[in-house]
Amino acid sequence: MKTTTAQTPVEAMTLIRQAVRDAWRKACAHYGLGALPEPALDFSLRGKMAGQAGWRITALGRKKQAVDFRLRFNLEAYALHPADMLGDTVPHEIAHLIVAAHFGPGRRPHGPEWQQVMRDCFGLAPRRTHQLALTPARTVERCFIYACKCREHEFTSIRHQRVRRGRSLYTCKACGEVLRFQEELPDLI
Ligand SMILES: [Zn+2]
Ligand SMILES: [Zn+2]
Repeated sequence: MKTTTAQTPVEAMTLIRQAVRDAWRKACAHYGLGALPEPALDFSLRGKMAGQAGWRITALGRKKQAVDFRLRFNLEAYALHPADMLGDTVPHEIAHLIVAAHFGPGRRPHGPEWQQVMRDCFGLAPRRTHQLALTPARTVERCFIYACKCREHEFTSIRHQRVRRGRSLYTCKACGEVLRFQEELPDLI
């Protein structure tokens, strides 16, 4: 029988850190990335996204390289779905970093390279929607994922409509690229 124990945020962070470390080592070994520094973690993510991966892009001669890998996690998401966070969100986000490190930055966020990492390295089905049921019953707030070449961004429906109507373009503060629509997150009630 499954028992559920209430965890403190510190315990939650410890478990997420451990899952990140395990998945990171596995992926680095799988792709021969050597001693690539572990991503920096923070737990400040709020809203519907369970996790978010990011990096900085530097020019290495004429080649672009991704550096300063980081991951953000949503502790509210973890509290609701701890197993999904550890078994799904963590590898999902790490797969984004591995794509940038191994194949280079600028790939489609959930394109063939990302799917390959999910399947070959983690043995997981490459589902694009990595979002968990974060919306409490009755709150129906739609959420749209946009992406640039360095991360995914969460848009409200108001922002999304502005883009759709051609009234606004949004660019990423980190990489300067125009954000492009990826997917609408399902309302999970
Ligand atoms: Zn993703
Ligand atoms: Zn960016």
